[in-house]
Amino acid sequence: MSEKITVVCTSCPLGCRVNITKKPDGSFAVSGNKCHRGYDFAVEEMTNPKRVLTTSIRVIKGKLPLVSVKTVPRIPKNLIPAAMKEIKKIKVEAPVRTGDVLVKDLLGTGVNLVATRSVEKEE
Ligand code: SF4
Repeated sequence: MSEKITVVCTSCPLGCRVNITKKPDGSFAVSGNKCHRGYDFAVEEMTNPKRVLTTSIRVIKGKLPLVSVKTVPRIPKNLIPAAMKEIKKIKVEAPVRTGDVLVKDLLGTGVNLVATRSVEKEE
């Protein structure tokens, strides 16, 4: 039996609606994409969807108690609950700078957790 989904490609601002069907032989039929990135995006959405996880982690001795973070690159969607459980345990010490890698290789995925704002040390 064929499996079929429609996704909105987020690889560029055009946002093409892309239809993808997985055929019984394992190949894919893709339509609606205007370029090959849309094909790759649709296949990934069907086989191993990924998302940018944005959240915050605790800061010790900071002017703010939390720092916002995001995963770079995107993390497999099915690992988000486990990632959140791990992230809740993490504390970093101020100061934190935007772009600092606060966690490397989260859950052994090769994905890093990067600060998206700065938090100064409390005085
Ligand atoms: S299929 Fe190509 S043109 Fe369409 S949204 Fe994706 S990247 Fe952009």
